[in-house]
Amino acid sequence: MKLVFLGPPGAGKGTQAAVVSKEYRIPHLSTGDMLRSEVAAGSQLGASIADDMQSGKLIADETISSVVAHRIALPDAAAGFLLDGYPRTVGQADFLESLLGSAKLDLAIELVVDPTVLIERIQRRAATALAAGGAVRADDNIESLRKRLSIYQTQTAPLTEHYQRKGLLFRLSGDAPVSDLSHEIIRRLALLRAW
Ligand code: ADP
Repeated sequence: MKLVFLGPPGAGKGTQAAVVSKEYRIPHLSTGDMLRSEVAAGSQLGASIADDMQSGKLIADETISSVVAHRIALPDAAAGFLLDGYPRTVGQADFLESLLGSAKLDLAIELVVDPTVLIERIQRRAATALAAGGAVRADDNIESLRKRLSIYQTQTAPLTEHYQRKGLLFRLSGDAPVSDLSHEIIRRLALLRAW
């Protein structure tokens, strides 16, 4: 099963992706996590993207697309995968399609959440991490967050229509409780399997 998750920062993509990944035993490929580990490891790639990531900008399509191409070529992704955070632009979606060729995507799952709710959620996530003595993501501050939301609206939101046209879109409100959302997604995926 080959899936992509769409949704603005704070929509809960990571949480739902983890549930689906466990249920279907497919790797959860979060481009944000991959890039954060490059930054943490101090690799050449990490050093070149750290500033853009911290300020909430997207990194170049060619850079992220090459990271994704390498990752989905690994054996654990042969039977399927779940992409979280990619594609984020129409160019990335086109690249993914050319990469997959006849092994097409099964579904694009989009979580829709109101921007005011997102800002509250991310601020809460940062406060909770701090209170627990943990680290706050470098881009979980109000300036980066506003930038990430506005980039989402301009560059990523067009993917809704892109996948709708292809008959691949499953859109649901991300406001419901976590377990209700997981059930709804898993019910939809079971329909795919029935085909
Ligand atoms: P968010 O919480 O905003 O959904 P992610 O954890 O998915 O964030 O990604 C964090 C940052 O990593 C992004 O703001 C961007 O700088 C970079 N990034 C991740 N995925 C992509 C992508 N597909 N294209 C470009 N940049 C990306």
